[in-house]
Amino acid sequence: MAKYTPMIQQYLSIKADYPDAFLFFRMGDFYELFFDDAKRAAKELEITLTGRDGGKERIPMCGVPHHSVEVYISRLIEKGYKVALCEQVEDPASAKGVVRREVVRVITPGTVMDEKMLVDKENNFLTALIRRQERFALAAGDLSTGEFYVTEFSGSVESLIDELASFQPREVLMSPELSEDTGFQEQLRIRLKCLVTVIREDHVIPQPELEKRVAAQFPDYQEACTTPFTLEVTGLLLGYLQGTQKRTLGHLNRLSRYDTNQYMVLDESARHNLELTTTLREGKKRGSLLWLLDRTATAMGSRLLKKWLDKPLLDKKAIEERQDAIEAFMEDPILLDEVRDHLKCVYDLERLSARIAYGSANGRDLISICRSLQVLPDMMERLSESGNPVLKEIPSRMDLCQDVVDLVHRAIVEDPPVSVKEGGIIQEGHDEELDRLRSVQQDGRGWITRMEQQERKATGIKSLKVGFNKVFGYYIEVTKANLRLLPEGRYQRKQTLANAERFVTPELKEQERLILEAEEKSVELEYQLFTRIREQVARQISRIQQVSDQVARLDVLHAFADISSRQGYVRPLIFSDDRLIIEEGRHPVVEAAVGDFVANDTRLDNKTRQVLMITGPNMAGKSTYMRQVALIGLMAQVGCFVPARKAELGIIDRIFTRIGAADDLVGGRSTFMVEMDETRSALAQATTRSLILLDEVGRGTSTYDGMALAQAIVEYLHDHVGAKTLFSTHYHELTQLEQELPRVVNVHARCVEKDGEVVFLHRIEAGGADKSYGIHVAQLAGMPPGVIQRAEVLLESLEKRSASEQEAQQMELFRFPAEAAPTKEIHLSSREREVLQSLSQWDMFNRTPMETIQFLLDLQHKLKEAQSSMGGGLDGKN
Ligand code: ADP
Repeated sequence: MAKYTPMIQQYLSIKADYPDAFLFFRMGDFYELFFDDAKRAAKELEITLTGRDGGKERIPMCGVPHHSVEVYISRLIEKGYKVALCEQVEDPASAKGVVRREVVRVITPGTVMDEKMLVDKENNFLTALIRRQERFALAAGDLSTGEFYVTEFSGSVESLIDELASFQPREVLMSPELSEDTGFQEQLRIRLKCLVTVIREDHVIPQPELEKRVAAQFPDYQEACTTPFTLEVTGLLLGYLQGTQKRTLGHLNRLSRYDTNQYMVLDESARHNLELTTTLREGKKRGSLLWLLDRTATAMGSRLLKKWLDKPLLDKKAIEERQDAIEAFMEDPILLDEVRDHLKCVYDLERLSARIAYGSANGRDLISICRSLQVLPDMMERLSESGNPVLKEIPSRMDLCQDVVDLVHRAIVEDPPVSVKEGGIIQEGHDEELDRLRSVQQDGRGWITRMEQQERKATGIKSLKVGFNKVFGYYIEVTKANLRLLPEGRYQRKQTLANAERFVTPELKEQERLILEAEEKSVELEYQLFTRIREQVARQISRIQQVSDQVARLDVLHAFADISSRQGYVRPLIFSDDRLIIEEGRHPVVEAAVGDFVANDTRLDNKTRQVLMITGPNMAGKSTYMRQVALIGLMAQVGCFVPARKAELGIIDRIFTRIGAADDLVGGRSTFMVEMDETRSALAQATTRSLILLDEVGRGTSTYDGMALAQAIVEYLHDHVGAKTLFSTHYHELTQLEQELPRVVNVHARCVEKDGEVVFLHRIEAGGADKSYGIHVAQLAGMPPGVIQRAEVLLESLEKRSASEQEAQQMELFRFPAEAAPTKEIHLSSREREVLQSLSQWDMFNRTPMETIQFLLDLQHKLKEAQSSMGGGLDGKN
């Protein structure tokens, strides 16, 4: 039977190790793909599918040129695939049989290093997780920046997803023991919208080697891996990185442990609803809090800012440290400007150092590092001159790395080429041999120029010239018209063109040999020298990374100071009690969008003002107000100043939100389901230190249903949870609760009617709203006049219904006893009660099954009759 050719056999044996990746198989100047990979790649990359004789059969094939392979790889990665890059690892000229090939690197969405595939201001996290019942260990690493975090916690899958989501990972790795749990994998894939990989057994570091391997990568691992579980998850991520990258990863040396209870908890829904990093409607950064606050000058500063927003602090001292620095900057506007100018000259040191350690940095990257570090001495000098002790202290902790500057400065030219293999990178005077080789080339070229002049003179041909091309090397060119002037036999003929002849001489060829030999050697030598310098810099990576961390921190604090002084933010006072006092607070983003923002006060605590019941018509500013309170609290704990005239805040441990109608269609949940789910999560998890925002809860179902739920929820929050709550509702009937529940306080978004139209004042005032103004809003929205008039008539007739009837329906029926657990009290008609009574008295054991069935049918019949006569049922109405 025919067999596959040896090369295809080689392909198949390599491919067997990478079933989940596109195998890019190097053949000369191309990377080829075969079989199914070829068919799928042809479709995904829109390239031509061809075929090739594989020996046994004709096999599908497609290919991409090696010089543009990155473009194709990035397209596949973008679509969430993996690519295994297989190179020829021996010289084809000296190979016996099929050239030896090996996969040199696997590129996955979570292990991208190519600049073009990364977003400057965003991290590219790869996370790994291990799950043992309700306990999770999680590691998150960014290969492109060298960050590596690890944590361990107990909780629900929801809390795991929230924690994972805070990293916005491009890829999630799971331990092999989770390989069977496809439901869990699918859940993560859908919720996190990223690639989920179950790690291959052979990438898992064997238990006996685990600690040694982790220690070799992270010298300080013991501080972070305090439990076997955290060590294991660190090893999981490391094993995958080493297994796919197949090289030393020197920049991955900082392992930090964090605890989820060290930071304010913001679940996915709160992050989303508060529009921290993207807007609700369009999912864009523009219009989010991050967008507003991001006045950072460096990419690493921008990434750090995002991390700070995702993880607000709980420690008063740590918050105040950040505030001190911001205040110091704000007191010295000139310094603020100068530091900004300096920061602007700092390149992405974090990613540059990663590329250096990874071995992919070029001459330009070294120059960028050098230029960035060169800025530091001036900037630090300026900071130490400042009278402020907080700023003065920064330079004393900063390693300026001027030895690295010197090294690069002396070795690398100012403007090196992109390629590291074509010379032109190393400075003159750096290496004697290189200088010698360069002077050989220079002498040779000088000799050629002189020869050209001599020959022009000797032959009298003014247009005679010496040229060079890659095929023929150096030649003397004489135009056809001048050939007659050339003495026969003076040169050797080499090539005939349409209107010129090209010649050589033995002396010219000899010079050519000297020049080309020296050139080849010097290019080779330059590459060696360059890699040596790169390695020297790589040994200083951890110092550069520290500089990068400090610059990032400085950048964010500076950015906070900048926005705070521009927007008139104030330093919030942080307390360890339960107060939340905001005077003249503003919504930071809405304020930036609308010119005349109306500031509002807020006063909450756990003793007398726990729940704010906010009423008012649609569009009156209720959501904006609620969000502004949450954002002010969050910004304060991030360390930033806040948009208010004055703020006194106790630490908030967690923010819950339920705002607006957000259908989770991908997750397959209806609006109402999402609403109830988010509310449930708040009721279950909030503490007295939490802040809950509930906007129009109950709106997603029928009026009575909705109102009943809304009231029940407020009562539960008041009686059992005790968290500070902002509750907005258009059921102005709920304002009654202020009388019944001592810690509920009514406020309303004030509107006035002027000439038959509603004017929204956006002012939050004490007391409840008197009516809903819904019809006016519909009018504003341009609803046809017919609809408006009819609605007004209907409203009037509804309003005429007796107040007692309405009250009975809406209030009393759902009131939970304050102390008891929230069991739903249902009111039944007398006929319904009869049905229940006969059911409870039915003696099942002394009756035949047939009799029981007949009895149930009768009961059902009676029940239906009772309900149809009331137009309701066992849903709580009578
Ligand atoms: P509601 O939740 O009551 O329906 P919103 O909070 O969505 O109302 O506010 C509607 C619009 O009113 C917002 O988009 C904003 O443009 C404007 N607005 C809200 N609050 C203020 C304010 N305090 N000052 C100025 N404009 C405001």
